[in-house]
Amino acid sequence: MYVELILPVPVPRTFTYRLPDGMELSARVGMRVCVPFGKNHTYTGIIIGLIPKAPDGVEVKDVLQLLDDAPILRNQQLNLWQWIANYYMCPIGDVMKAALPSELKPEEGKQGVIREDFKPKKKNFVRIVLKDELAEVFDQLKRSPKQQLLFMALLDRSHALHKQVPDDIAQDELLRVSECGSEQLRELVKKGLCQIIEQEVSRIDTGEYDTDGLQPIHDLTEMQRIAYRQICQSFRDHQVTLLHGVTSSGKTEIYMHLMQEVLGQGRQVLMMVPEIALTTQLCMRLRRVFGHRMLVYHSKLSEPERVEIWRRLLQDNSDVDIILGVRSSIFLPFRQLGLIIVDEEHEPSYKQQDPAPRYHGRDLSIVLAAKHGAKVLLGSATPSLESWYLAQQDKYGLVQLKERHAGVSMPEIKLISMTEARKQQGLQGPFSPGLLAALGRTLRDGKQAILFQNRRGYSPIVECQSCGWTPRCPRCDVSLTYHKRTRMLSCHYCGYQTPWPAQCPSCGNPRLEMQGFGTERIEDTLQQLLPVARPLRMDTDTTGSRKSYERLIADFESRKSNVLIGTQMVSKGLDFSEVQIVGVLNADSLMNFPDFRAHERAFQLMEQVAGRAGRREGQEGQGLIQCSDVRNRLLHQVIAHDYESMAATQLADRQKYGYPPFTRLIAIYLKGRYEDRTRALAIQYADALRNSFGSRVLGPEAPGISRVKNFYIQQIILKMEREANTTSVRQYLNAIYDA
Ligand code: ADP
Ligand code: ZN
Ligand code: ZN
Repeated sequence: MYVELILPVPVPRTFTYRLPDGMELSARVGMRVCVPFGKNHTYTGIIIGLIPKAPDGVEVKDVLQLLDDAPILRNQQLNLWQWIANYYMCPIGDVMKAALPSELKPEEGKQGVIREDFKPKKKNFVRIVLKDELAEVFDQLKRSPKQQLLFMALLDRSHALHKQVPDDIAQDELLRVSECGSEQLRELVKKGLCQIIEQEVSRIDTGEYDTDGLQPIHDLTEMQRIAYRQICQSFRDHQVTLLHGVTSSGKTEIYMHLMQEVLGQGRQVLMMVPEIALTTQLCMRLRRVFGHRMLVYHSKLSEPERVEIWRRLLQDNSDVDIILGVRSSIFLPFRQLGLIIVDEEHEPSYKQQDPAPRYHGRDLSIVLAAKHGAKVLLGSATPSLESWYLAQQDKYGLVQLKERHAGVSMPEIKLISMTEARKQQGLQGPFSPGLLAALGRTLRDGKQAILFQNRRGYSPIVECQSCGWTPRCPRCDVSLTYHKRTRMLSCHYCGYQTPWPAQCPSCGNPRLEMQGFGTERIEDTLQQLLPVARPLRMDTDTTGSRKSYERLIADFESRKSNVLIGTQMVSKGLDFSEVQIVGVLNADSLMNFPDFRAHERAFQLMEQVAGRAGRREGQEGQGLIQCSDVRNRLLHQVIAHDYESMAATQLADRQKYGYPPFTRLIAIYLKGRYEDRTRALAIQYADALRNSFGSRVLGPEAPGISRVKNFYIQQIILKMEREANTTSVRQYLNAIYDA
């Protein structure tokens, strides 16, 4: 018997090994094995096939050890890995690296030394030992008030007086509520009043989302019920349906009803969200209805937590029916999915940029669903033009919700001309008088506001006024951003940091000017201009951990703060009841981005962030957009909340200039340490491509940011007709690469 293995090596193929006697019976697809590799290496790999015969003419070595008693993967997962390796043209070893939690991940090991396996987490619990006469007990404790306190707490918490079998209480919790220490606990144990026992506990921290028992799901409104029925109808002849519903129309409520339906059929649901930022509020809402049948999977979990979720899903009688997760949750071992919901499907963060596999979570969800015979619901107030186009072509079903829940009106959007404000010398830092006045009114009314600026840090550009010098990253082709909190200039591409220079290193001028406003500086300026403002900042600098993110949300929700200032994070699905106005500080910077998706993206960001305003009955939300060109067509589509008109004009442009979804773009990047050699190789590669693809090959050219982490970059774009056979394109690309 032989096995076909995936090994964690960057070679796009699998490897064959022989199973020695004794292992033949126990080996199965999806188990890990230890094998010799090269001269004196040992690798751990995963079995993806059992074969009776080795291929001819290759020397086959023996498997050293079988590491699992049962597979750690399901068949559909392996299928998906193979699909990804093929479609995104990367070694299957790289797919495996992305898919498995690192504690399950095969790696290079020394002979005989295997990584420690999953260890259940243990915790101490206190169990009360009840004597017949409570009075006697208190008598025994009367000289020690602290021990009495501790015993009372134990009596109360364990429900010993009401329950046949009293509850065990977590030791740390008991000590915390009774404000006693472990000395007192030891005394109680000595007196025979309680015992300490070690119990296995789950690592998955769900307690923080606990609510007081389950609550029934909201009834759908008439409009939502119609949409719900249309979705079910649409699923009969479409695998994928797009739910286009304006912000706050109740898409999430509809998702919950669909989930309930699918759970009723004994199947699982994966609900994908673009990033962890969205999970907090959503998690509370789902937890209230589905309790612990739902688990959350995101990038900030610890490794043991990941492994535990993985192991629980692997069990065939698993009690986990719903996963709420980010794009990587696509790789979990689902038993039988009935539905995948991709919320905010337009979000670019579904796309994995680096490292390989460079996959798109939304596209993969459709592939995964097909393997389970499941349906996919894409939800958004501002769908990606790709999905919208497919829905227009009837490749996807389309269901729309055009009004907000409970007759709440869409926020009224106004443009504020920065050119005018500048002319009248009314600008105060990044603020026009109009925005400042509106903020003042709102905050004095006791309401809240959100401000959106797509730059973090204090000042994105620093410049010497006498010679024009600006600090740049020595490793990347970008200028450095000043961060006030750390007092450092830092590179947002590679993390390089350097202190603020005492003088200009080029001319010696001691005064360097800061230009532009990042979120940090907006926070500072606002506080100076509006004393009533209590700002809170939400960007990647303030949301390092999930806890810090949750604290921010909680502080804003409890109104400790009244202005939330943030980067695109604030545009995503937040649902606060008291937010009355939303300000976009610099719309120009969103639209002038050199990318064919810039206008689509700008519309999505502005519409979404405005959608955070006035979400409850009886509230008029308002969006204020600062911009220089008040006649810009895109901005007027934002004012009218007219997604369809935006989609029509953008799609017409895309068709005219040959961009997706009318073509497929394949971007090929070449990176190298030496600029001229990288360039020469790129030219050679592009020429080879031109032999097969002719004028479909664009470039090579240096992208906008031409150097990152000391690597020079050259970009070649291959623009293929939509109908082109992608398999043969892939074969060509591989052949040219190999040559
Ligand atoms: P969306 O996901 O489209 O942005 P939500 O589902 O978050 O909209 O709904 C917006 C707000 O309205 C939420 O606070 C939600 O609880 C409330 N809501 C929506 N539909 C209903 C309903 N049928 N019953 C009760 N509350 C609802
Ligand atoms: Zn200078
Ligand atoms: Zn850098």
